[in-house]
Amino acid sequence: MANEKKKRNKKKKRSNGGKKNITTDQSDAYKSVSDWLFLGSSSSPPSLDAASSLRSPVFELHSHSNRSDGFLSPSKLLEKAHHNGVKVLSLTDHDTMAGIPEAIEAGRRFGIKIIPGVEISTLFSSSGYEEPVHILAYYGTCGPAMYDKFEGFLAKIRDGRFVRGRNMVSKLNKLKIPLKWEDVTRIAGEDVAPGRVHVARALLEGGYVENLRHAFTKYLHDGGPAYSTGSEPASEEAVKLICETGGVAVLAHPWSLKDHVSVIRRLKDAGLHGVEVYRSDGKLEVFSELADTYSLLKLGGSDYHGKGGRYETELGSVNLPVTALQAFLNVARPIWCEAIKATMRTFLNQPSDSNLSNILRFDRLRILKGNSALSCGMELMDRCLSIWLASDERDSDEFEALRLELSSVSITTNGSCVTVGP
Ligand SMILES: [Zn+2]
Ligand SMILES: [Zn+2]
Repeated sequence: MANEKKKRNKKKKRSNGGKKNITTDQSDAYKSVSDWLFLGSSSSPPSLDAASSLRSPVFELHSHSNRSDGFLSPSKLLEKAHHNGVKVLSLTDHDTMAGIPEAIEAGRRFGIKIIPGVEISTLFSSSGYEEPVHILAYYGTCGPAMYDKFEGFLAKIRDGRFVRGRNMVSKLNKLKIPLKWEDVTRIAGEDVAPGRVHVARALLEGGYVENLRHAFTKYLHDGGPAYSTGSEPASEEAVKLICETGGVAVLAHPWSLKDHVSVIRRLKDAGLHGVEVYRSDGKLEVFSELADTYSLLKLGGSDYHGKGGRYETELGSVNLPVTALQAFLNVARPIWCEAIKATMRTFLNQPSDSNLSNILRFDRLRILKGNSALSCGMELMDRCLSIWLASDERDSDEFEALRLELSSVSITTNGSCVTVGP
């Protein structure tokens, strides 16, 4: 803990957010981040003079809703984010993107941009030991390319959570705690894959522990007497799939790992883009140095779950320097752009309802809300690109070729049905 205090003080000294003495690097970063922030929006970014006197826009890159083990619905989470001054939020529920459409819809009401995300539960194996590793994936608004493959991968992990939950309950039963599986699933809610927090809440509700923390320290911590693994994929496999589907892969909370150096080294080889190094108590030097060694992005977020209580880090409380945000977007934007191309190409090759729904998945209302109904793939693509990409990103021969080819694909009704034109 003394170490953390030192880091916090260090951070205070270094931080100059909101002060006047801004370097050229910082003002360039402000400009590029705010240009991205206002993409596709009717209002324009603040002028550079005004921007340079502003604080770095608040990005919250790690948050959970009740679509996994958070307590708030995506809409309530966004309301809270708005209240806390967040401008960009990534919803990163465990092993599911089910909350993203609601988050995008609510984000629109509050003027918050959403980065569709997910936190994938994986298992890292090294000679003689295994440990759970969480990998964050960040996608563009179009979502993952090859959505069905990615969703299948997540569904397998979620199914494994049911098996794991049952195992935890039966281990508790063996410890003479008569917890019922039904209580866990009721607390998790319909269609929500149960996690450790749901088991912990059932323990609290049944009066078997004093609080949630106690449930973890006594029974549910990694390797604890009631701990169980599910069917998590290998960490490298998850990183590779994120890369393959047009996402940015970031190692979550490396400070909770036993052997973070091996994890970072091996995952970098698999394609890892970044690592969390910022927390609400500042930058953790040891991880920041590792990020430098392995040329990884330095990111971070609150990992907010809406549990409440004094141990919880507040939503939007992690201060990411604007230069870190710029570095993130510089890496992410070309990747997201390629994912859009891949998704459009898949639709062109097979113009089916399901391939269309992959384009519309997260931003359906906005794309279809235009003044006129869409009549062909070219219009669809123009509308999507004008919302998602800057003009220089759209300006490529590949997009132009795709546009022309897509003009032969007709969309017969408001995006619900498609036929191939002559
Ligand atoms: Zn995590
Ligand atoms: Zn998390």
